[in-house]
Amino acid sequence: MSLSDEQAAFLLDACKLIQHATATGFKVTGGELARTPEQQAIYVKTGRSKTMDSIHLRRCAIDLNLFKDGKIVWDKETLAPLGAYWESLNPLNSWGGNGRTLVDTPHFSRGQGKPEWRRVT
Ligand SMILES: [Zn+2]
Repeated sequence: MSLSDEQAAFLLDACKLIQHATATGFKVTGGELARTPEQQAIYVKTGRSKTMDSIHLRRCAIDLNLFKDGKIVWDKETLAPLGAYWESLNPLNSWGGNGRTLVDTPHFSRGQGKPEWRRVT
């Protein structure tokens, strides 16, 4: 599967996630999806990220703003069912709430560790 095909499949899963989140009582607004190397460098420099190999550079990650009862939700316990749903959609999907080095609950991604996808086209 090409990177472009993977980006398209990722986005379809993201649509399912947004619809599922909405159906289970969240309001969802869009955060960051695509990211330039220049922006990533700023995040690394300011400590917001630890890698120059972010999946956002391949456009296979999205950060969502998830609201419940009018308040933005960050806590892992509340978002865990959405993370489980996301990871159930495809074996390559991973939720940032389960991150080993960084817990990033609004982050939903696909395909980490697949070097053939690292060429941004
Ligand atoms: Zn992210």
